[in-house]
Amino acid sequence: GQWLGMLGGGQLGRMFCHAAQAMGYRVAVLDPATESPAGSVADLHIVADYDDRDALAELADLCAAVTTEFENVPAASLEFLAATRPVAPDAKAVGIAQDRMAEKAFISSQGVPVAPYAEIQTAADLDTASASLYPAILKSARLGYDGKGQARVKTADEAKAAFASFGNVPCVLEAMLALKYEISIVVARGFDGQSVSYPASENEHRDGILAVSTVPSPNVSPALVARATEAARTIAAGLDYHGVLCVEFFVLEGDRLVVNEMAPRPHNSGHFSIDACVASQFEQQVRAMAGLPLGSTDVLAPSVMLNVLGDVWFKGADEAAPDATADVATEPAWAKVLAVPTAKLHLYGKADARRARKMGHITCLGSSTDEAAAAAARVAGVLGIAFP
Ligand code: ATP
Ligand code: MG
Ligand code: MG
Repeated sequence: GQWLGMLGGGQLGRMFCHAAQAMGYRVAVLDPATESPAGSVADLHIVADYDDRDALAELADLCAAVTTEFENVPAASLEFLAATRPVAPDAKAVGIAQDRMAEKAFISSQGVPVAPYAEIQTAADLDTASASLYPAILKSARLGYDGKGQARVKTADEAKAAFASFGNVPCVLEAMLALKYEISIVVARGFDGQSVSYPASENEHRDGILAVSTVPSPNVSPALVARATEAARTIAAGLDYHGVLCVEFFVLEGDRLVVNEMAPRPHNSGHFSIDACVASQFEQQVRAMAGLPLGSTDVLAPSVMLNVLGDVWFKGADEAAPDATADVATEPAWAKVLAVPTAKLHLYGKADARRARKMGHITCLGSSTDEAAAAAARVAGVLGIAFP
């Protein structure tokens, strides 16, 4: 079959490989780590840095199209590939999504609201930022994920200390909002401009990391889903986006909706689509980049997805250092998880477990959200994960 190219070796790349291979494609993964979740299941693993021109040329020569699984790939590498191959998403979209300032400015320009914020280029900008933003979160403009590169600050002095601790890199200072809850929408958009979207997932974060996604959530009204979907599609169309895009929203009092951020790739909150939908978000990524029509996003069953963090390996070992690693060979009780008949286990093949590290996820299905939640509660009990 044809080859598809993937920049990045993480779990999103791994699940992309699984989808692409099932559809008859071969996948070449370019990633600097000799061992990685995607590299170990790819048909070819090119071990190289993301800006290695020879490696990029090798990828382009081999592959019919190229995509990425993380937003921090150099935009210049995507541009280099795009000279000879379809690249989805393109450098412009990824460039916007990898910088919170550009991202917020772009989303606002599309008439979609974002959380109130100020751009912080230098410490002096913290003197002029509106006092109404506090209590606030200072977020580094680039390279943050899973709540890294963020500090909750109550005063300008605290914000200055946090800014210095980040190394004076450009940041946004964002008002801390009272969230009713959080949702996300995954959109897939083809080269022909056709797009499809998944239903809203309600997402619970713990310590800045996604913990639980529920689809459909009884909290989320159809009218709210419609507004969020419209906003996500507006953003995708405004970017002339090709591929899979996730838009994260905050839901405030009175069902007010603001965008938190976007991810130019399949998203953790869309993993339910693997087991609960006709076509998964990874299948859509394959379809979009290969120029195929997009698949159905119809939901076959309600689901509750639990993330499996490395913490599960440290159960009952609270004294372990926060940066300790555990050998994944000391397996958690997967057999007991699998004893729940609607629990679908996905492990990412990472070599060692660390606290707060995403090691896998489990999607629990049911004939109702309540039933899916009951299955999730059993699984959570086995693994020592808090639920609900
Ligand atoms: P991701 O792994 O999703 O990329 P990230 O590091 O980019 O995470 P954010 O999405 O900015 O982080 O924030 C993580 C979580 O922190 C949010 O999902 C939300 O729960 C909380 N949070 C972030 N910003 C705000 C805010 N302005 N007001 C209230 N809560 C917030
Ligand atoms: Mg983010
Ligand atoms: Mg986020």
